[in-house]
Amino acid sequence: MPTLPPEPFFSGPGLDRADLLRSQPERIAALAGDPAARELQWQSGFPLLDTQGRLSWGKVDDSALFLGLDQGAPRFTSLMPQSPADARAAFPLLALLHPNDAAIFAAALSLTNWHRRHRFCANCGHPSIIVRGGWSRRCDSCGAEHFPRVDPVVIMLAEHDGRLLLGRQPQYPPNRYSALAGFVEAGETIEAAVARELEEEAGIAVADVTYVASQPWPFPSSLMIGCTARALDEKLTIDTTELDDARWFTRDEVAAALAGVSDAAFLPPPPYAIARALLEHWLAA
Ligand SMILES: [Zn+2]
Repeated sequence: MPTLPPEPFFSGPGLDRADLLRSQPERIAALAGDPAARELQWQSGFPLLDTQGRLSWGKVDDSALFLGLDQGAPRFTSLMPQSPADARAAFPLLALLHPNDAAIFAAALSLTNWHRRHRFCANCGHPSIIVRGGWSRRCDSCGAEHFPRVDPVVIMLAEHDGRLLLGRQPQYPPNRYSALAGFVEAGETIEAAVARELEEEAGIAVADVTYVASQPWPFPSSLMIGCTARALDEKLTIDTTELDDARWFTRDEVAAALAGVSDAAFLPPPPYAIARALLEHWLAA
């Protein structure tokens, strides 16, 4: 039986984005006055969570951005009042965040990150204005319209002879190993980006790049594209400017790490990381 694709954190269920309403400012204004409308609450640059890990919602006040509909009930957010700290400041929140609210968390944070970082027209430098319920910015000087950007990142497991290649970045906690990753460059396919990153960071050539699953990663606006690849050789040449280390791990070592065995060969990525979902998927296959 084929293994089901993983459902990484941040991948659902989310809101009905109600795209058709975005081009009708009078309807969005009416929705903001709906008694069922709610506005996302923020704290220290991130959506505020309650003690159950659910998003906190208040009455609609200064809501520039229409997030969508939750079973027909309008959901809004203001522009984030505060710049978020380093993405790592969010990790304790992600450990608490309820999976059913994760997609809304990602959409709201990514969208507000974009507005905060893109206040001026990229074409002519004139200040741009928010339109389409917050899902676009328009420049009244040159007429250009700009949409919330999403930056594709490939993240991949390379396999050779039943073993997996994992690496560690300098900022990881001690003994953590995870999937290698890197931004897709302009004019590059996903497959080419996977092959290039593995060649650059670990010095290996690969074939058979296969897409597995994706995950929004709102720090500030990435889309993680999870893949597997078959390494043609196991000899590693590690780029030490990017990685502290990279190693091959056996299936038993990966299983022990995911099971949380105390003397496991490595500490796996946390449950909210797509790398964790890729490892679980590989182990189940
Ligand atoms: Zn312009």
